[in-house]
Amino acid sequence: MAVPQNKITKSRRNMRRAHDSLVADNPAECTNCGELKRPHHVCPSCGHYADREIVATTSDIDLDEDAA
Ligand SMILES: [Zn+2]
Repeated sequence: MAVPQNKITKSRRNMRRAHDSLVADNPAECTNCGELKRPHHVCPSCGHYADREIVATTSDIDLDEDAA
């Protein structure tokens, strides 16, 4: 098994890890319903993207349609 020749000091280890922190995402308001959504993603609450309906939400689907 490969073994590191030299010890990584706490300083070098911590300098390497300085860029490892997670960054919170930057939610944007949906232009259709105003809910906060991930940028460049379809709105999960109304199914719109760039002012067009992409995904039909369950409230839009009439489940009793075939019962009549
Ligand atoms: Zn929306």
